[in-house]
Amino acid sequence: MGKKVIVTGGSRGIGKAIVQQLASEGWEVVFNYRESAAAAEAIVKDIVDNGGKAACYKCDISNFDECTSFIASAKEFLGDVDALVNNAGITRDTSLFLMQPAQWHDVIDTNLTGYFNITRNLITYFMKNKKGAIINITSVSGFTGIVGQTNYCASKAGIIGFTRALAKEVAKLQIPVNCIAPGFIESDMTAGLGEKHIDEIKALVPMKRLGKAEEVAQLASFLLSGKTPYITGQVITIDGGLTV
Ligand code: NAP
Repeated sequence: MGKKVIVTGGSRGIGKAIVQQLASEGWEVVFNYRESAAAAEAIVKDIVDNGGKAACYKCDISNFDECTSFIASAKEFLGDVDALVNNAGITRDTSLFLMQPAQWHDVIDTNLTGYFNITRNLITYFMKNKKGAIINITSVSGFTGIVGQTNYCASKAGIIGFTRALAKEVAKLQIPVNCIAPGFIESDMTAGLGEKHIDEIKALVPMKRLGKAEEVAQLASFLLSGKTPYITGQVITIDGGLTV
């Protein structure tokens, strides 16, 4: 497989770790962010300073037209695209009886429709070229359900269905489409849960710790290594034993 990849939400957390891991392996990387321009530029600078090739663009994945422009810019910068990692995501946690329509729509529009917006703008290119690989970052919450996250869990369950359907649509073109389902991973997203809640989570996890973004990045790297292209339509969990 060639080594040119687009990653969404590469400015922080898991997406940043994936960008850095793939760049360290010689992948040319384009990623987007929504707000963290300075952090994104610093990641690009670090990669370029270390002899790599990378670029970042501002793009809100919930906006289809912005995704069209972003994918066009990424293709122009890379010259070709071999893989896509849909990672960008948000939470707007609250119990359903308190949830406002905006909290529902923000999460669905980003975590689910955003994956459609990006993938729809690239899939024809992959199909025409009969190559490509797609990883969609979902969450164990997409199959376990978590209190206060009806919006988030619905979006993550949706990504699993999206992945399985698309995997079947493009299988004959030898394009693998898979999900990574992390459990609780150290990032700004989980930091927002607060120390007390994080201690409760650690107590529930058989490995008694949160995962690291770098561990998820290693899994993404493996799936994009091209060594196991027969894996498709799968949800690969990385959760310290939480859902065992
Ligand atoms: P994070 O630290 O909050 O980072 C989120 C990233 O997504 C940032 O780069 C952010 O960009 C970007 N983003 C958010 N909304 C966007 C939008 N509308 N358009 C473009 N970019 C957007 O989150 P994380 O913990 O790394 O999570 C990454 C993915 O893993 C998400 O899909 C999340 O659901 C999933 N996940 C996380 C965990 C966990 O425990 N952390 C567990 C399971 C699944 P800005 O920096 O510009 O805001």
